[in-house]
Amino acid sequence: MVDERSGIEIVVVESAGFCFGVKRAIDIAFDLARKDRRGIYTFGPIIHNPQVIEKLRDKGVFSTEDVYQDDAKVMIIRTHGIPLDLMEKASKMGYEIVDATCPFVKKAQHYAKLLSEEGYQVIILGDRDHPEVKGLVSYAGGDVLVIGDKEILPELKHRVGIVVQTTQPVENLKRLMGKVMEQSKEMKVYNTICNSTAQRLAETAQIAGRVGVMVVVGGRNSANTTQLANLCSSVPVRTYHIETAAELKLEWFKDCRKVGITAGASTPDWIINDVREMIKDIGGRQG
Ligand code: SF4
Repeated sequence: MVDERSGIEIVVVESAGFCFGVKRAIDIAFDLARKDRRGIYTFGPIIHNPQVIEKLRDKGVFSTEDVYQDDAKVMIIRTHGIPLDLMEKASKMGYEIVDATCPFVKKAQHYAKLLSEEGYQVIILGDRDHPEVKGLVSYAGGDVLVIGDKEILPELKHRVGIVVQTTQPVENLKRLMGKVMEQSKEMKVYNTICNSTAQRLAETAQIAGRVGVMVVVGGRNSANTTQLANLCSSVPVRTYHIETAAELKLEWFKDCRKVGITAGASTPDWIINDVREMIKDIGGRQG
């Protein structure tokens, strides 16, 4: 619908913003903070969104990368999970562990372990620097390879098992499966891609194809937000990746009457609403 004040039509992707796993983790963290408990930590940023992390800090929930936290009473495990050895160390620390690992990530961890126990060479398709993948590697035991999209495969064993970082596009998995089949005799695949990511990508692509500008909202350190920005750019449509409404610029919307907004799984509704309102203001100023 065209906004009367600005004359701009703003279309927000329906699935933009918090996914199930992130909402669950954030609710856990804010619930604990409401109980006025001191010494609440999250292992690593609970989600990849600096503004939410700051809000949690204001409520007394701090992020740490160190399981040895002397004053910790509660340690919340982030949505992406943590490596097995760190979990074991944390469990000996005497504080309460509240596991906010997304159940879908937990499933991927379970399958990585299962494949390893069944004697497969485990391939994890994903970004090796991402915390979720680092966690998956620890569950897959010793015989594990992390393969990023379009990477050349090394020589593989005859029995290969595949687990996928939850935010990977299905095209990457199809490509990898094709390449593995050229080498191996047996391939077992657990498609651990999360539907919410695929759905958000599909809805975003659809809207990006019918607007003049796409604004992608979310942390610059958020893999799935960056993926949305890359997807929009490839449509192609003029795309801007921002973290907050304060970054919007008047000139981006010059001669543009239809704007799409999408957001990563770790972007809260209040930031998406701020962006929508600011775009209306900008449109109004353009006359
Ligand atoms: S994107 Fe999917 S796997 Fe990742 S936290 Fe959200 S619901 Fe869980």
